[in-house]
Amino acid sequence: MDEEKKKLVTILVPAYNEEEVLNMLYDRLKKLMDENNEYNFEVLLVNDGSKDKSFQIMQELRGKDKRICYLNLSRNYGKETAMIAGLDYCKGDCVVIIDADLQDPPELIPEMLKYWEEGYDDIYAKRKSRDGETWLKKFTSKMYYKVLQAFTRIEIQKDTGDFRLLDRRCVEALKAIRESQRYTKGLFSWIGYNKKEILYDRDPRAAGQTKWNYGKLINLSIDGITSFTTSPLRWATIIGIFVSLVGFIYMLFIIIKTIITGIDVPGYASTMVVILFLGGIQLIFLGVIGEYLGRAFNETKHRPLYFVDRYNEEKETNIKLNK
Ligand code: UDP
Ligand code: MG
Repeated sequence: MDEEKKKLVTILVPAYNEEEVLNMLYDRLKKLMDENNEYNFEVLLVNDGSKDKSFQIMQELRGKDKRICYLNLSRNYGKETAMIAGLDYCKGDCVVIIDADLQDPPELIPEMLKYWEEGYDDIYAKRKSRDGETWLKKFTSKMYYKVLQAFTRIEIQKDTGDFRLLDRRCVEALKAIRESQRYTKGLFSWIGYNKKEILYDRDPRAAGQTKWNYGKLINLSIDGITSFTTSPLRWATIIGIFVSLVGFIYMLFIIIKTIITGIDVPGYASTMVVILFLGGIQLIFLGVIGEYLGRAFNETKHRPLYFVDRYNEEKETNIKLNK
């Protein structure tokens, strides 16, 4: 086929401290690229401020294969930001986002490409199983999807990571969204377009350590809710109305009781219970309001989402602004 006519597929890999897997990843991707030569490929490795040898390995890989591109961010920004940086720099007609640790099998990409050719815009891989993850992680993730779904109106795909193929127009849509506390998993749903699900078995990490801990996951979960819905604020109002209604009825009861039976001195326990309970509710909802206020504060600063140190051999001086 004519080189010019071939479509370009970008494989976008966010990587943070992945020195142990990058070479393995390259071998798997190379095989894939060589077998599917009806496409041109670009592998964009985004180095998210790794502290190990990942960046050197990326440079070596580019040295031997020019299909490899790398983007070196100025520090560690987290996977969500590394992904938008990659989307800003990718050149492909479509983009496949894949983890560096080979938990997402690259062998699924030809199937995704097949559906892409059929006209789907967002082909996402849904996990059939989650080998190599603790039951606690599976359980919390399941509960979380339930809560998130109860709060938001847009449908968020269950058991789906960021492993997916996106058509150029989805990429442009995601690039247009410049919020700084990103919850990409929700954004994929939010942008819409034709979606197609394919099933796969998620492998255990090939080597190295997971970068997630419960602290980070809790933060991501709260971002997930606060970036898509203000319904916790609505709930605060509803619960507030309910509690004050109950309080009002109880007040009437006490007044009437005092009028009929006289002053009732013992009552310490009930007073304390009410004070503590209401105090707790007030603190929780102050926290909820604070979450949204904090979010508004962060977004109004309009800071660029990331800074780039190098794109391939070039030292980067341009700064992508929040436009
Ligand atoms: N990652 C990243 N920046 C970070 C943390 C993770 O770019 O700050 C990348 C990481 O290199 C990997 C992907 O995000 O390619 C998923 O991370 P990990 O495998 O640690 O998460 P898990 O699969 O355990 O959810
Ligand atoms: Mg992983």
